[in-house]
Amino acid sequence: MSSRQFFVGANWKLNPCSRDEKKKLIDMLNNANFDKNTEVVVAPPTLYAIAVADLLRKDVKVAAQNCYIKASGAFTGETSPTQLTEAGIPYVILGHSERRTLFHETSSLVAQKTRAAIDAGLSVILCVGETLQERESGATDNVVKEQLGEVVKLVSSEEDWSKIVVAYEPVWAIGTGKVATSAQAQETQKATRAYLASALSPKIAESTRIIYGGSVNDKNCRELATQPDVDGFLVGGASLTPGFVNIVNANA
Ligand code: PGA
Repeated sequence: MSSRQFFVGANWKLNPCSRDEKKKLIDMLNNANFDKNTEVVVAPPTLYAIAVADLLRKDVKVAAQNCYIKASGAFTGETSPTQLTEAGIPYVILGHSERRTLFHETSSLVAQKTRAAIDAGLSVILCVGETLQERESGATDNVVKEQLGEVVKLVSSEEDWSKIVVAYEPVWAIGTGKVATSAQAQETQKATRAYLASALSPKIAESTRIIYGGSVNDKNCRELATQPDVDGFLVGGASLTPGFVNIVNANA
């Protein structure tokens, strides 16, 4: 068993919309029996982040789902990494495929955001992953390398990488109900770790958590969790259901 702490993140995306739903989710988390060895992080919509952090049990951390590269200035509609730190939000998700696709974020911008977030004192859940077409053409490892490579150009120290959790999220598996097989997740995550070893150092590769995301649920999580390079999960749809508790405990 690896020495990396198992990590499970809940990506609520643009949910919930009502206060009632929000309260139900928080109650579910606050009443859950979580494996003490798992780091649990919940990413509500930015507007709710402070309220959720106030209401949540203190062993569960809060993440934002995005942030900008600047601390302040004329950037209408953005959230600054410094503001997140000031608000007591310790994590931010960056490079999610919905941001890359729907909001046209390039790997270079994601890398700049990662640099800015770490400089502001945040930890980062850094999402990477290939489309179905890229997988079918055998490009998966190269796509992930390219996405991480931009970050490696700007972030290279051991200390900075201790703030990064890499989330491997194949685009074809996100929100589709089509989960990667445990062999597919393991193969890509092993290759990702090998890339970190060659581009940065074996030590950074060995200590960086690489988690899997894409249609994880309380049925498929246990088998995925047995894979040596699967250090946890980033969970979308199922994080809005009671089954999330079982996913947190998948490694117990
Ligand atoms: P999903 O989303 O679990 O609904 O597939 C995962 C994610 O987008 O992080």
